[in-house]
Amino acid sequence: MGDHRPEVFFDGARTAAAHVVGQPGDGWQVAKATLAFERGAAMLGLQVGFRRDLENLIAAARESGAAADPLLRDKLARAWIGLEAVRAYALDTLGGDDPTQASVLKVLWSRWHQRLGELAMEILGAESMTGHDEWQRLFLFSRAETIYGGSDEIQRNIIAARALGLPRK
Ligand SMILES: Cc1cc2nc3c(=O)[nH]c(=O)nc-3n(C[C@H](O)[C@H](O)[C@H](O)COP(=O)(O)OP(=O)(O)OC[C@H]3O[C@@H](n4cnc5c(N)ncnc54)[C@H](O)[C@@H]3O)c2cc1C
Repeated sequence: MGDHRPEVFFDGARTAAAHVVGQPGDGWQVAKATLAFERGAAMLGLQVGFRRDLENLIAAARESGAAADPLLRDKLARAWIGLEAVRAYALDTLGGDDPTQASVLKVLWSRWHQRLGELAMEILGAESMTGHDEWQRLFLFSRAETIYGGSDEIQRNIIAARALGLPRK
């Protein structure tokens, strides 16, 4: 099979001193700080969309009659509680510079959104296969959310090493 990772290495790269971000040799620290921002603070804006997704799904469940199904009502209530928990954690850790908090938040929101996509497919049933582009897109794209920005496994590795002080290997 071989190794086909798309990794790019820059050796001996030169630039104007004014263009250096951080200190020379500290590129990985800068990259990690940038990633922590993507996983953490940048998520605050996403929440607005998540709230809208959930409200739209509740409205769709009401319209289709699915909201009367006790199991689906239970799952919608759990989704609502889950989003409250994500929001509370995001606000609680806002402005903090602990990268493990960004990892916890990334796992929380990506898992939550994925479950919402699955719930949307359950609520729409067979109808989800025809039309409903918005929900199909949410379901399919949310599969990638536990991968991009660092996969769940990588987030848990960071949490294990940094927050719990466990050995790296
Ligand atoms: C929709 C989408 C958009 C993206 N956008 C961008 C972008 O804008 N910019 C960008 O730079 N990248 C982007 N990516 C790439 C993304 O960041 C990587 O796909 C992601 O970090 C996972 O890396 P990988 O694909 O190399 O998987 P690998 O690192 O090869 O991992 C494969 C599997 O092994 C697991 N794994 C790997 N190492 C370990 C370990 N040490 N311990 C336990 N498990 C491990 C992973 O969790 C995963 O399940 C995007 C990816 C997707 C799907």
